[in-house]
Amino acid sequence: SQWGATVAGGYSANAARVPDDVALHDERNVRTFKQTADRSNQLANALAARGVRARDRIALLCRNHAAMVESLIACSKLGVDAILLNTGLSAGAVADVIEQHKPVAVLADDEFSRIIAGIPGDFLRLSTWPETENGYPTIDQLIAGVPATKLKPVDRIGRLVVLTSGTTGTPKGARRPTPKGLSTSAAMLDRIPLHSGDRFVVAAPLFHSWGLAGLQIGMAVRASLSLIRRFDAEEILRTIAEHRCGVLFAVPIMLQRILDLPERIRARYDLSSLRIVASSGSALPGPIVTEFMDTFGDVLYNFYGSTEVSWASIATPEDLRAAPTTAGRCPPGTRVAILDDDHNRVPPGWEGQIFVGNDMLFEGYTDGASVPRAENLMATGDVGYQDAAGRLFVTGRADEMIVSGGENVSPRPVEEAIAALPGVHEAAVIGVPDREFGQRFAAYIVPKRGARMSADDVRAYIHHRLARFAVPRDVYFVEELPRNATGKVLKRLLRDETWPIDQ
Ligand code: ATP
Repeated sequence: SQWGATVAGGYSANAARVPDDVALHDERNVRTFKQTADRSNQLANALAARGVRARDRIALLCRNHAAMVESLIACSKLGVDAILLNTGLSAGAVADVIEQHKPVAVLADDEFSRIIAGIPGDFLRLSTWPETENGYPTIDQLIAGVPATKLKPVDRIGRLVVLTSGTTGTPKGARRPTPKGLSTSAAMLDRIPLHSGDRFVVAAPLFHSWGLAGLQIGMAVRASLSLIRRFDAEEILRTIAEHRCGVLFAVPIMLQRILDLPERIRARYDLSSLRIVASSGSALPGPIVTEFMDTFGDVLYNFYGSTEVSWASIATPEDLRAAPTTAGRCPPGTRVAILDDDHNRVPPGWEGQIFVGNDMLFEGYTDGASVPRAENLMATGDVGYQDAAGRLFVTGRADEMIVSGGENVSPRPVEEAIAALPGVHEAAVIGVPDREFGQRFAAYIVPKRGARMSADDVRAYIHHRLARFAVPRDVYFVEELPRNATGKVLKRLLRDETWPIDQ
């Protein structure tokens, strides 16, 4: 049912069927489905007693932990829209979002209480983790003595509002769709062998659509979720080993950092329970795909999607062995089309704009901005192609295409080529203005520890592999790449030249 697919509905159903199974683990707590349902009922009752009503908004500024999930369930029970704030936002951006969305309450981890304190407005301030030192009541204090009676079902389904990363200007709120049932999560099972009662590690942040996917898919298979509060590669391995987890939801940079761990540290953890590593949120570089599967076995699944279209395609370990950079194929119920600028389909192998259709397309931005649509499909803002076998390849974002000497080039193949150069740890490529060619390629390279290479080595290597116009003229060696909270490289910052570089 529709209700069953909401966070509240899913957890209530699980609490009825498997009350004593573990639903959530975090650094401090272990909660069964019954405890989770009870605590979220208590929270919903306590908020209702404070005047919170259906259609109100509640903002959450939380890392991954049990209280975050309980808060989401409580919002869903109340018919309240939950605005999920990215923990990487600046204090100013948080204030702007709150000003724009006017929540009746802000639930924030204690580490962010200073940000919340600085925001004017008459809203309820609650501390979610761990205990407050800054004077706001904690959730535990608020629900003490409150009955766990079920609320009367409201006639409105609360939306989850995910923010775009907002590297320029105020982040936009994207309303996630009203769930149309569990079929869309269930369609996943066609591509990814999840089992009822699986143990998941959710390391991707819950404020991002990929962490939410972990929560929703987990709910559909009655998984127990181990929530990683703050990303740490070793902590992920420890959690998998300790709880014998079978499934990891992560973003690509986390997989890279796991591979960066020294072998003697990795060897401390028994990871034999791990069957599925699901990655999404940004492109998974080819060398990481291969190294990861050579190290941990054929466990990797690459999901392509966005806040706006949810998930669009899945690459299985088999797909990735055959073509490490592929984003795979659509699950049942989803369609992808590659269209040209006039919205005509392009033949296999040709690049164009990626459009996606499924019943999980978002309901619009909270500021009313629109997204191009064609043939009941929605533009993703990405460029890519499908090969003759129907596998999708995402080559970059439309706004990151580089036009050099009249040639339109995607940055991703150039990044992939550079990443394959021995001694390169990671690389990003952007277009910079060029008087002669319009734009030229600039490469930012993080060398492996101790590796030595020159800009000429890089140019010579690329020259042998790609077209002349793809050879980066500017090559910068940097210590790290600027990334957002989900590990996506912030190319705008590279372009701003505010990033410390030494040539
Ligand atoms: P932004 O605001 O920049 O879109 P975000 O991380 O907040 O960033 P998302 O909606 O999660 O928002 O980003 C989705 C985008 O990430 C996709 O449009 C695509 O560019 C990229 N992406 C996600 N998954 C993959 C993948 N598997 N392969 C390649 N690119 C991916």
